Amino acid sequence: MTISMDATELRYLTYSRGDICDRTIDTDYLQHDCPLDQTTSNSPTIYHMQDATASLGQFDRLPLETTQNILSNLDLSTLTLLRSISRRMNLLVDSLPAYQKVVTHSPNALRALLSTHAAQHFTANDLHNALRAQDCFLCGHFGAFLYLLECRRCCWQCLTSDEDLLPISQSSAKIMYRFDAQTVARIPMLLSIPGSYGLKQRRLPHLRLKGGVRVALVAYGAARKARVRSQLHDLLSQDYEKLKLETRIALRGPLSQDFMWEMDCMNYDPAGYEAGYGLEPQRFMAAIRFPTLITSTDAVEWGVSCLGCLERAKDGDEERFWNMQYTSEGMVKHLEQCQKAACSWANDRVTELRKR
Ligand SMILES: [Zn+2]
Ligand SMILES: [Zn+2]
Repeated sequence: MTISMDATELRYLTYSRGDICDRTIDTDYLQHDCPLDQTTSNSPTIYHMQDATASLGQFDRLPLETTQNILSNLDLSTLTLLRSISRRMNLLVDSLPAYQKVVTHSPNALRALLSTHAAQHFTANDLHNALRAQDCFLCGHFGAFLYLLECRRCCWQCLTSDEDLLPISQSSAKIMYRFDAQTVARIPMLLSIPGSYGLKQRRLPHLRLKGGVRVALVAYGAARKARVRSQLHDLLSQDYEKLKLETRIALRGPLSQDFMWEMDCMNYDPAGYEAGYGLEPQRFMAAIRFPTLITSTDAVEWGVSCLGCLERAKDGDEERFWNMQYTSEGMVKHLEQCQKAACSWANDRVTELRKR
């Protein structure tokens, strides 16, 4: 396959697997229930700043760059609260480069962190760094998701199967590992958003109205690390399976079985059932689809998949190929060596195009 490739050719050979994010936190819900009040993505002008005259207290004594530096390192919950103090503070927060990029390019990631309360553990810089990254922090492949409990980018494969990324209930971890309050407070936590975590077209909106419990979740890997650090007891064997089970019970809450039925991705999703992630719906409560910011163009990419791989996949193999996503640049590299794409009908079409 020829290396040089224009955007049209790339489009012929790839597809965007939008449904891959259907199982994670519902973005329609986030947009509706967690509105952000930014009216413009442009940075506030000097004129705007002069217009706002409220005192910033001690911050007024510091150079603007120092103040911005301090604010960029505050956790996102505090930063959001600060924005509501005065018009001037609002503009100052909006002027932070990291905050601006996040609000402009990935508002839903910010909404997800705020709505789940995970925002208290991470800064605007953390989220901005994750936005600019492309690789999954665990395996190095392109990652199309933000893992909220680490505020880092991860791929579908790691999100659905890595032990360390399994969200477990905070209370079960506390009991099983006998954490004291201080240790627990140091482990990033989020509150689950009730709802159904399955394929979007099969979600039933009325279920949200039926209520649902919000369970405090922590990452299994983070809890285990805290356990090793505290050195109080030996690690228990089979704690993973036990914590997984207890989290399921906690998430079920006082609700009827059909709530669990909907929340559980496995019921309507044979692929998820076979792959095993249907048994761990809480994995999707800690993730959201997340674009990557290409700094050279200041544009975002959501990831594309290879049509050749899909077309040539043997029966039952589709799931594995669907899961592989790439940036445009990564896809060009993939196509250079993808045998399947080279003998696919999509490639025949590209060859036809070039002859014209
Ligand atoms: Zn990965
Ligand atoms: Zn391929």
